[in-house]
Amino acid sequence: MPGDLVHLSPSERRERLKAVYEQARVCRDCGLAETRTTVVFGSGNADAALMFVGEAPGRTEDERGVPFVGQAGQLLEQLLEEIGLTRADVFIANTLKCRPPGNRDPHPHELQACQHYLFAQIELIEPTVVATLGNFATKLLRGDPTGITRIHGQAEERLIGPRRVRLYPLLHPAAALYTRSMVDVLREDFARLPALLALGPPVQPGPPAQRDPPAADLAADVEGQLDLF
Ligand code: SF4
Repeated sequence: MPGDLVHLSPSERRERLKAVYEQARVCRDCGLAETRTTVVFGSGNADAALMFVGEAPGRTEDERGVPFVGQAGQLLEQLLEEIGLTRADVFIANTLKCRPPGNRDPHPHELQACQHYLFAQIELIEPTVVATLGNFATKLLRGDPTGITRIHGQAEERLIGPRRVRLYPLLHPAAALYTRSMVDVLREDFARLPALLALGPPVQPGPPAQRDPPAADLAADVEGQLDLF
């Protein structure tokens, strides 16, 4: 499911994402570097039109280096399957790339320190739809404190960095795991995703910004963790 406005070739996109990953892999810009096992950069289709942004890695994700591989990930995969998609069609990332101890909430200074990785991912992947999962991703990308329960399922156009996207807030699958009514709400919101994707990308604000590759070493082999299809 390639994005409609592609400004980078697939190989350029992957090279630049790998460069950002190389920066994140050794990042010590906040205290979570002291307690993480693995930096969980993100995984999926680098050409995806649909990108999910969750909160932060949990214990399983921290161990395996891949986002949404625990129970919440299984629910996400099930909901994707119900609209005819798989993980291979989408890209999944988090606001924080390292696990907060005990799965506590992200701290503002951690979000501040880490957000440039997420913004780089969105800029390089060029998704049509960015689905934010839960409060932290929604508030960060909307730049607004409105809670997810008020705005889930309501798509809006937002400028994120140089790119205008269709931002689509959703409940976090982890919050819905043990509450049937929340799963039903999530399922209803997921059901609108195909129509949202079919709209294509919003009109962009102008010529694409010059995208300079991050200054990391492009030569390093990161295929093992950066699971790009
Ligand atoms: S959470 Fe983000 S800013 Fe903090 S150490 Fe990990 S990658 Fe760096």
